[in-house]
Amino acid sequence: MSKRNKKRKRKQGAVIVTTILIILFLTIFYTNGVSNNDDNDINNEYTEKNDKSDNSKNEKIIELKVTPEKYITYSDEKINLSSFKVLGVSKNKKEVNIDKDIEFSITGDTFNIEDNMLLVSSNAITADNGILTISYGDISKNVEIKVFNNLDDNIDGSDIITNSDAYDMVVNKTRNLASDYVPSDLVPLDDIPTVLQNSEINQLRKAAYDALKELFLKAEEEKSFKLYARSGYRSYRTQNDLYNSYVANHGQLEADTFSAKPGQSEHQSGLSIDITCEAMNFQLDDTFFDTVEGKWVAENAHRFGFIIRYPKGKESITGYQYEPWHLRYVGKTLATEIYESQLTMEEYFEQLKSN
Ligand SMILES: [Zn+2]
Repeated sequence: MSKRNKKRKRKQGAVIVTTILIILFLTIFYTNGVSNNDDNDINNEYTEKNDKSDNSKNEKIIELKVTPEKYITYSDEKINLSSFKVLGVSKNKKEVNIDKDIEFSITGDTFNIEDNMLLVSSNAITADNGILTISYGDISKNVEIKVFNNLDDNIDGSDIITNSDAYDMVVNKTRNLASDYVPSDLVPLDDIPTVLQNSEINQLRKAAYDALKELFLKAEEEKSFKLYARSGYRSYRTQNDLYNSYVANHGQLEADTFSAKPGQSEHQSGLSIDITCEAMNFQLDDTFFDTVEGKWVAENAHRFGFIIRYPKGKESITGYQYEPWHLRYVGKTLATEIYESQLTMEEYFEQLKSN
């Protein structure tokens, strides 16, 4: 082949390659063009509509609406987070359903989030609460999650309560502790002043004891008051003996106003303590409230997790006379709610049920 022919052949090759490239380029462009066109048409239409009303910037979501706005739960519940309906609201009040790219977080010791489920601890008690934050991009909405253990759910057909270990359990004249119930975490009241030499009653459940120690310590620190523990845990058997001796001495009618039947005493729970002071000669009666110590206890016990379980004027509800000396441990959150509501424990639970 001559030099000239070679040159021509190369030129022809270049033309073919260029042509193929052009065809290839056109094909790709055309294919993409067609597939994009549909979207573009929609986008154009959308933009046009928005442009007409001149509010395209108002379509940006500026607020979230979440249903429900508040969630009442109970211990050990598992809540599917998809059950919270999330709506995005734009500046011009247009609402769109949001079902992806949502993030959840929760505060509070008794809650956890795992695999799109909100888990409530089995130890959670009434009034425990947390804030569930639902986020979408940089906007978020808070939902209050609150625990309410309904009394009706925690009792069996024989009027025996089924949540004896829970700090929010309610024992009274219709709600009994089982005759063989003994708290598993009783501790001796070693580091606080006691009145009687009796190892059984000088005991409380650990959390109640720790709280009582704190209460006694603060009474001394803040007011120089010295408080004494007189009667804490009482076994079913001890209560049985006590009740029978009261009935023998006072008759059943009178005994029932100040003494619990076995199984119906809060003292069996290990969460109740009778306290007194020197001005009372270390005895228990309702003049305790007239002492400066008794007044301080009434106004401050909730700070440490205790309530005055049998308040004045509520005898027909609690079934017991006023006992300013009888404290019941329920934890700080619940104690504060009950204290502020000025209700008895029974009324507090009833009121929650009707809300
Ligand atoms: Zn008592």
